[in-house]
Formats: sequence, C-alpha cells, structure tokens
Amino acid sequence: MSVKDRVREAGVVGAGGAGFPTHVKLAARVDTVVANGAECEPVLVTDQWVSACRPGDVVDALRAVGGEVGASRLVLAVKRRYGALIGRLRPFLGRDVELFELDDFYPAGDEQVLVHEVTGRVVPEGGIPLEVGCVVQNVSTLLNIRDAIEGRPVIEKHVTVAGEVARPGVFVAPIGTAASEVLASAGGVTVPAFRVIEGGPMMGSLLADIDSPVTKTTAGYIVLPADHPVVTRKSMQRAHEVRRASSACCECRMCTDMCPRYLLGHRIYPHLAMRSVHAATDDIPQVHGTAFLCSQCGVCEAYSCSMGLSARRVIQALRERLVAAGVKNPCRDRPPAREAQAWARVPKPRMTERLGLGHVHLPATGAPQPVNPPWEVRIPLKQHTGAPAVAVVRRGDRVKAGGLVGEIPEGALGARVHASMDGVVTDADAHAVRIARRA
Ligand code: SF4
Ligand code: SF4
Repeated sequence: MSVKDRVREAGVVGAGGAGFPTHVKLAARVDTVVANGAECEPVLVTDQWVSACRPGDVVDALRAVGGEVGASRLVLAVKRRYGALIGRLRPFLGRDVELFELDDFYPAGDEQVLVHEVTGRVVPEGGIPLEVGCVVQNVSTLLNIRDAIEGRPVIEKHVTVAGEVARPGVFVAPIGTAASEVLASAGGVTVPAFRVIEGGPMMGSLLADIDSPVTKTTAGYIVLPADHPVVTRKSMQRAHEVRRASSACCECRMCTDMCPRYLLGHRIYPHLAMRSVHAATDDIPQVHGTAFLCSQCGVCEAYSCSMGLSARRVIQALRERLVAAGVKNPCRDRPPAREAQAWARVPKPRMTERLGLGHVHLPATGAPQPVNPPWEVRIPLKQHTGAPAVAVVRRGDRVKAGGLVGEIPEGALGARVHASMDGVVTDADAHAVRIARRA
C-alpha cells in the first residue's frame, strides 16, 4: 500500500490548520516538501514538544512524504530560537534533509509566508503551495503520517494547556475528550471567572461550550480571566467592530503596510475595506480582492492599528456579504513580493507582550502528559476540510480504539474517523459518534 493510501486509511488531516485531508496533498507531484515547525502563535508549544520527543520520526516522515510526491528538496523549517529542538533534530537530518532556521516573527508558520521564506516563490493570490511546486506539512501532521505508515490511525491529539490552570503543559487526549476534562487533567482552572480560547490567541476562538470535544486540529486551550483584553476583543460583536471601523479609522494604512499577504505582493488592502465601511459601499474594486485574499491572521487588529480597530473582522463580514451575493475572487495573479517583505515583520515577543500574554510562559520542550482517561468521548464526524464522514457504527455496537467509525462519502473530499477508545457506541448521528467506556 502506498504512503498516500495508508494516510487515507488512518484519517490523517492537517493538524496545524483547517484540517485539509493529507492524502489529497500526497497525490501531487512537487519538487519541494517543507516540514512546518514554525509554531508561530504565541503561547502554543505543542509542535515543539512533540517534535522534540520524536525527532527521528519527524525526519523519517518528511522523507516518506518526499518520496511519495517525488520531491528533490526536503526542508525542515523551525525557528532559530528553538535551539533545544534543533539540537535534537540535527542528528537525524543526514545529507538529504535541509534545516531552515526561521526568524522569530508572526506569522512565520503561514503556509504562503513559509513557502516564500524557504523557496523565494510566491503562491498565487487565492492559491495554495502546490501551485508553486511545494507541499507543506506541519510537524505534528508528519508524526501522524509516521504512525499511519505503521498502521496506526489518528485517535489522539496533543494540546497545549496554558494560562490560568494549576499545571500548564502539553497533554495528550483521545479525540473526542471534552475540553473540561483536559483542563481538569491540568489541575483545573485557578480563577473564578474565565474564558477558554481554543487554538492560539491570534487565530483561535473562544470556546462557546467548555465540554466541546478535542478534535484532530485542536492545538491548545488557553485559559484567561474573563476580563483579559484578548477575551474582550474576541467577545466583541462583529457588528460593533464594524460600527467602530466606520467612525474611528483614520486611514493611516498601517494595516495594509503590515499585512503579511500584502507584503507577499497580493492585492489586499485592509485600509480600503475600512473605507468601504465608512462609505457604506462594497463597490470599491480593490475591496473585492481584499475580501478573498485575507488569511485572518489578525496582525491588522492585534498589532498594526493604533486605534484598536479590527480590519480582520470587517473583511470577514465583507467576504460573507460578497459570497452571499455570488461574487467570486477576482484575483489570481502571481505578483512578486514587495520589497518591504524582508523587513516589515512582526516580532513575536513584542506581539505577545501587546496581547498581554508576556507572562504566559511554557518551556520550549517537555514531556507531554496523558489526560485522565475519559468515561465518554464525543467524536465529531467533521474535523476536517470537506464533507463530514458518514457513521459506520450504530448505537449499541462495541468498538475498539482505532476501529473505523466514520467513512469518507463516495467521491467526496474528506477524512476517515476512528474510535479513540474501547467502549460501546451510545449514539451515532450525522454529526458525531459517542462512545462510553461502559454501556
Ligand atoms: S491601521 Fe487602523 S486606523 Fe489605520 S487604516 Fe488601518 S484600521 Fe484604519
Ligand atoms: S487578518 Fe489583517 S493582516 Fe492578516 S491577512 Fe487579513 S487583512 Fe492582512
């Protein structure tokens, strides 16, 4: 069986982003594979911890992916600052795998930024790295590929737990474990009023339900006091953000000049999106491209704007309006990167301070701890880009950890889903499969 087929069988999806099914990427023919070990979101250390624990497996998986897609260049990209991790990876590199040391800026881990850093190529507007001969795989995904080659499906996830908990660290949880149980395994929350961010403070979102399940793409839980500025920002109603934009933007255009996608040469102009709100019109030609080219990285709202405005959310609202009106992305060029790309970068430590998270520190490496074994897991059938998996088990079925519970619909883009522990299926519908340790 090919690596691609084993990866498909195992239900591997991109662990560091939207969960794109990995077997689809492995069907490509490219010249370069980049292992993404940048982990650029403040506070999160999941990728650093897991790759420091299994450095040989990261490199082996990179070689396996390179062989599958016919690549002649294999690159392991990590930040220069991750000295301990680099020390563990280096003995496994050999002559065929190149170590690329990144500067410590945000968003160094954005696929398009990373491809430009490593190869000098610019991914076309609205495009993906495959279009410039590159496959990018997050290091945690590579470890899942390594397991898939050995016949082990994706049934657990490593997550950073940080902030206001008694024992912060990286924990490994069966897929479907409730977030509340992960926090309990970290010693519990230490403040009376709190909110939990799933993912990083820049691109993550507030958990609406503390019992939401861990999925294949959950990178971490950051517990913050309910009145922390990051929580306040993320709680703000989008309509309120849009009203603030229309009244307070001075059109200084810093949000544009610092935008990582603008710096790559793409035709994205956040300040014009702000102007469109003020002018109460979407009919500014450059604004349409802006809506479709934004990566939602959050640099404009968290770092660039001295007025505390969020071009990101204005663009989000704009995109929804345009999509609803049937407007498509008009931008598909491959422009050269702008000269300022080399220096107009957001230093991660400074951004972390501005977010008010400078005190939320975890060591760069450590041993992940298992969570307390859950009595029940709720495994979503859609944890990935594409169509939800279709449940292949029914209430009352006995399942073993690693057994298939969700299959990819015929002809669809999707990923398989597996039981994350032994038990009995207590519910299975179009959305999720519940498994209890006992009936
Ligand atoms: S940085 Fe702020 S004030 Fe300046 S143009 Fe952008 S949104 Fe407006
Ligand atoms: S969120 Fe802001 S900075 Fe990031 S890509 Fe979108 S407009 Fe640019």
